[in-house]
Amino acid sequence: MPEASSSPQILISEVGPRDGLQSVSAIMPLEARKAWVAAEAAAGVREIEVGSFVPAKVIPQMAGTAELVAYAREIPDLTVAALVPNLRGAQDAIEAGAHKISIPFSVSETHSLKNVRRTHDQMIEQVRAIAELVAQQPEEQRPHFEAGLSTAFGCTLEGPVSDDLVVRSAERLIEAGCAEVGLSDTTGYANPAQVRRLIRKVRAAVGDDKLTGVHLHNTRGVGLANALAALDEGITTLDSSLGGLGGCPFAPGASGNIVTEDLVFMLEAMGYDTGIDIPALMKVRDVVRDALPDEPLYGFIPDAGLPLGFAHA
Ligand code: ZN
Repeated sequence: MPEASSSPQILISEVGPRDGLQSVSAIMPLEARKAWVAAEAAAGVREIEVGSFVPAKVIPQMAGTAELVAYAREIPDLTVAALVPNLRGAQDAIEAGAHKISIPFSVSETHSLKNVRRTHDQMIEQVRAIAELVAQQPEEQRPHFEAGLSTAFGCTLEGPVSDDLVVRSAERLIEAGCAEVGLSDTTGYANPAQVRRLIRKVRAAVGDDKLTGVHLHNTRGVGLANALAALDEGITTLDSSLGGLGGCPFAPGASGNIVTEDLVFMLEAMGYDTGIDIPALMKVRDVVRDALPDEPLYGFIPDAGLPLGFAHA
């Protein structure tokens, strides 16, 4: 049934093929990754982070991301996003044709050193160089360049992360040339009050239009509550992972993005328009399960099913 166009639109950004796959030890073959992306786009998902531009010897699960980006670009109406840890990754991502590139900036400097072996100042230099590279591209090939404020809600290595440092980092990243920043609960430490507070503080510092998305994990069971808090603050892009696959390999104990199927159910039940067909989305799990038979897939909606007579509100 066609959706009412008056419903508020929320963009679900599927990060399973990147965040999910890089955190599981099994390697999904490139053909299966293509099938996953194609099936999820066919279910109505309009943005997918298909991979990360890191050397295959560092994260072998991400080998072939350039080919996957080129493949995904041919899918109509799909925004193809990729993670880039540095300038070199950004060069490769732009060459492959990514529509959107994101660099993770760990607000915890200890996490930054462990994750990308760079200090904050060194990361800002990378961001500046990437922003220049993006600006040099012909307009139609220029990707949207975003920085994710990783460990914004706390760090498994440093513990609490100060709001002031998150805000200052956001300001530095925008000043260095990012079009936008996102808040990332890399470690699954966030709570809804903190989500509201940080969104308000960062938006007050850089502008509402420069913080439109959040990346949440469900490590401690409050992922959907955090998503709801973000929605109430006016956030319009939510990252999630099919089957809850995912986590951060450099944040010990942090596993499980919020589950795309459960998030889409909550949003559609509330009357938001995601453009996603839930039964079709649930069938995408078969693609992932066939390729990674030993990995657990999570989700309440896949287990319990949709409520009898469920319809978009
Ligand atoms: Zn994550």
